[in-house]
Amino acid sequence: MNMRIIFGEDLGIDLGTASTLIYAMNKGIILREPSVVAVERGSNKVLAVGIAAKKMIGRTPTNIEVIRPIRDGVITDFSITRSMLQCFLSRVRSRFAIFRRPRVVICVPSGVTEVERRAVVEVVKETGVRQAYLVEEPIAAAIGAGLPIHEPVGNMVVDVGGGTTEVAVISLGGIVVDRSIRIAGDEMDEAIASYLKKNCNFLIGPHSAEEIKFKIGTACRQSDGDMSMEVKGRDMVEGLPKTMEITESQIREALQEPVNAIVEAVRVTLENTPPELAADITTRGLVMAGGGSLLKGLDTLLVREMGIPVIVAEDPLSCVAYGAGKVLDNPKVLKSIYNRGELISKGKR
Ligand code: ADP
Ligand code: MG
Repeated sequence: MNMRIIFGEDLGIDLGTASTLIYAMNKGIILREPSVVAVERGSNKVLAVGIAAKKMIGRTPTNIEVIRPIRDGVITDFSITRSMLQCFLSRVRSRFAIFRRPRVVICVPSGVTEVERRAVVEVVKETGVRQAYLVEEPIAAAIGAGLPIHEPVGNMVVDVGGGTTEVAVISLGGIVVDRSIRIAGDEMDEAIASYLKKNCNFLIGPHSAEEIKFKIGTACRQSDGDMSMEVKGRDMVEGLPKTMEITESQIREALQEPVNAIVEAVRVTLENTPPELAADITTRGLVMAGGGSLLKGLDTLLVREMGIPVIVAEDPLSCVAYGAGKVLDNPKVLKSIYNRGELISKGKR
């Protein structure tokens, strides 16, 4: 009999700084929500989680606080993270009734401490899963992107998320060199807002900054034209609402600092990579994952600066969750998790 019928669908969870995804074997992504929680100030009572909470950012009365509990790759508020994870798991819970308890692989940003990693697994276990495993995010991203991580060749993954950019070189199933910087999508949004404030006396909120990035954000010049868009904000001199025309070239200038930091992180990682593996990467190229890899021209810029091929994963936003789910089908990865003692599950540890 198919063991999956007895034990239920295995799940992969990507607990990201910007979004949390849950992937179910054979079903695909069954949950995709912003990692955001709205709480009542003082009592810390959870009022909204996920999309509903994200909509409240910048629009709350004084008694409500909107929290992103995982910032810059570290869990800044563990009890809120716990509530968020419990809420997300309960939304998919009907899918795993008592006799259909799934195995779960969970990925957390690499800056999260060992204690927090274990605590996250405990939270997952409390929801009644059969077993919970932790896997390093770059490994999951690489598996999700279909890289042959068990071969003796260098595989480079660059995951540009919301709070962190993680660069890793993987060979023979393990991470050889890695680097994590706290500069990614969020810092791009902040750079856009502060550029407009400084150069145009124009104030915008984080939602608008992200939208500008999606629409006209570029890491390098895309064509001869200069796209533009109308943005609503506040004039700092008159203090009144105003609509302004913002151009692609202005935003490119605004994004220069975070974009350069990402390029630099890739450069330093390549410099620290043993020569044989670096040679592999030079011919095979690097794979980009994470939402930040969708910034227009970031791949082209990396090709130009590094002189190596750059491939953006097929679905960069789902890559880690997809890879986490696939870990359970991959005996070699599971064995290496056992060997590193990362299995955290009742009776085993
Ligand atoms: P995390 O793993 O940290 O949760 P994600 O991989 O989900 O992060 O990526 C989220 C980041 O990607 C956000 O900063 C978001 O603004 C950015 N992003 C998503 N789509 C695009 C896009 N088309 N262009 C530029 N940035 C994008
Ligand atoms: Mg991520």
